[in-house]
Amino acid sequence: MGELEIDTIPPTLVTVKDSNSCEKNPHLGSILCHMDEGVLEGILIERHGFDATASERLCTSKGQDHCLFEISIPLPE
Ligand SMILES: [Zn+2]
Repeated sequence: MGELEIDTIPPTLVTVKDSNSCEKNPHLGSILCHMDEGVLEGILIERHGFDATASERLCTSKGQDHCLFEISIPLPE
């Protein structure tokens, strides 16, 4: 995936710029971006220790200039 920008720690939104996988292809893009959600979840737990769920909100394959993922992290019990 491309360049990651995390808004805060713990993250609520992650911007991905220059994502190679999404590109501008509306058909392939949505499938590959779905994989990016999993990659992003992996990065968040490995680098930051957050057991997060990522959902894509904006995507280059839908005409945006970046992809935006909304992050939800379950609150510790
Ligand atoms: Zn995307």
